[in-house]
Amino acid sequence: MTRLCVIPGDGIGQEVVPVAVRVLERLITDLQVVEAVAGWDCFQATGESVPASTLEAMRACGAGLFGAVSSPAHAVPGYRSAIIQLRQTLGLGVNLRPVRSWPGLSVRSGINLLILRENSEGLYVGVERQVSADLAVAERHISRQASEFLAHRAVEIARLRGARRITLVHKANILPLTCGLFRDCCREVLHQAGLDALVDERLVDVAALQLVEQPEAFDLLVTTNLFGDILSDLASYWSGGLGLAPSLNWGQGIALAEPVHGSAPDIAGTGRANPLAAVLSSALLLRYHWRAETEANRLESAVEGLLTDISPGQLRQETTQGIEAELLARL
Ligand code: NAD
Ligand code: MN
Repeated sequence: MTRLCVIPGDGIGQEVVPVAVRVLERLITDLQVVEAVAGWDCFQATGESVPASTLEAMRACGAGLFGAVSSPAHAVPGYRSAIIQLRQTLGLGVNLRPVRSWPGLSVRSGINLLILRENSEGLYVGVERQVSADLAVAERHISRQASEFLAHRAVEIARLRGARRITLVHKANILPLTCGLFRDCCREVLHQAGLDALVDERLVDVAALQLVEQPEAFDLLVTTNLFGDILSDLASYWSGGLGLAPSLNWGQGIALAEPVHGSAPDIAGTGRANPLAAVLSSALLLRYHWRAETEANRLESAVEGLLTDISPGQLRQETTQGIEAELLARL
């Protein structure tokens, strides 16, 4: 029995997640779905953005699919972003974000890279303080444990995809203690693994330029939380943008797939949300968590077939339902 905890969340999460579930049901015959709630609507109804029952369901299933949640632009007492809570509580220490060229949508072909981002610490520990009216300070936490966990995952992924190059991205020239510790931990783990891949390093600013200039040259990039957040959004341009950007939050024996986009309140309810980012996120669950490489490839090939057959203009006109039908017809 393959168990999946499904957390649609808010806005278009409610529209794209059911599509991804029906696609997964086509590929995994023994899939058992457990529904769970999280997000802003959930907070307004229950006072919690991630109820304990959702955490229990995630732990029991070991695998989850998350849609998106809305966050108010102003601070609301008692409210914390659901996805950040899920990442931290469930120890989802790594965030995996692949970027590849797709027929029709991508302005450039031949790109196939994967950004592996630390997902639990860095500047996202959220430790900020107001020192005076004119000075605010944020802490950046980098630990050996989280850096080594990330590097071990990089080794695992490098073996799975036969990576030719692994690039550590940091800013150790300016942040020798935090970025230096990150770099040294990663170097050590990668060196000990004895991989065939070339292991090199780039300062984050140079990496940003090269991701624009020559994205085909990259294969696996390994970096800290904030750098990975920014670089992966930048690189997702090459895949055709947010409607196609998937991710996987990955811990020890537990994984939560999640499209990179948010709840898109501007189009929620119109039936026009593109479900492909959610679908491609579930392909990451298949490949990396369930180790179902054949099914992951089948799914990605079906998306590739769909994008080959319809133009970007047609895709923008398509409804969520229409894209689902086109995809299921190819599976
Ligand atoms: P967004 O990703 O929701 O939307 C940005 C733009 O892209 C919008 O114009 C939207 O219509 C479009 N878009 C996004 N996904 C699409 C899809 N699948 N198909 C078609 N068009 C799509 O980002 P935003 O507008 O900055 O944020 C909206 C809400 O989502 C906010 O409350 C924000 O906090 C939240 N958010 C949540 C997550 C998450 O849950 N991980 C991530 C980002 C933003
Ligand atoms: Mn982001």
